[in-house]
Amino acid sequence: MTWTSKSFLEWSAERLAQAGIDSPRLESEILLARGLHSSREDLYRNPDRELGEAERVLSKSFVERRFLREPVAYILGRREFWGLEFQVTPDVLVPRWETEILVEKFLQWTASESSPESLRILDLGTGSGNIAIAVAKELPKSRVTAVDISRSALAIAKANAWVHEVADRVRFVEGDMFACELKTSFHAILSNPPYIEEDQRDSLMPDVRNYEPEQALFGGPDGLACYRQILLQASQHLEENGVLFLEIGNGQVNDVLSLIEGHGGYHAPEVTLDYMGMERVVSAQKKKSHG
Ligand code: GLN
Repeated sequence: MTWTSKSFLEWSAERLAQAGIDSPRLESEILLARGLHSSREDLYRNPDRELGEAERVLSKSFVERRFLREPVAYILGRREFWGLEFQVTPDVLVPRWETEILVEKFLQWTASESSPESLRILDLGTGSGNIAIAVAKELPKSRVTAVDISRSALAIAKANAWVHEVADRVRFVEGDMFACELKTSFHAILSNPPYIEEDQRDSLMPDVRNYEPEQALFGGPDGLACYRQILLQASQHLEENGVLFLEIGNGQVNDVLSLIEGHGGYHAPEVTLDYMGMERVVSAQKKKSHG
């Protein structure tokens, strides 16, 4: 039987719907477009285009992988963040849209700085490098240090930095948060740390639970382990009046605020909501004389 784009999409959308995928038609189009090295627009323009044997085999393998709930970003090997395309593999967390709020909030803060371009910035748990690279692109003279515990994640992040032409200004360091050689102090520390509670594992979508790297997801029994670890040392690595920007999980705002207030070295933290109205980012400025 000959497959056309149209008949393939009908089959694929039904297959993905069976797997409980939320947007089976949209994802089918994305996967087929990739299998044909074309675009979704081309699929619409040319619904009767016949699939070659190799195209059919490849596109079908994409659909079968998605049927097993592998994230689309891993199937395509890429994901957009902050308008930039990032290479992603199962070694790194898939960048999430809500993390753009962290970047946005940080950039707003830089606007009030006297020389925002030349800031020194630290990104803890860089993963694909999405935060570090977005920030380096926005601030063309800034210097960014990006830390991750996973060597294979750092390899992906480095490749992304080359592609986006910021490799000369982003330094990648292997280490567990601050347990690495940082060489300097920073005007801002940013982090989207692993923050899911261990016992939430079973309630996660299979796409996340079965495919994304564990060490990028879980933040200990109560999800707060990394926040404690960061707060223990962040102020020693911040310049006077430097600011800490943390992404947080749903329901964690009060706990994270208490940790910051309990530390005593920061001014009253600010909370920023995401587009869904959830508390997503907590930022706190270091007090002047705090070590
Ligand atoms: N910084 C990366 C991101 O925001 C990775 C975060 C993580 O691995 N927890 O997507």
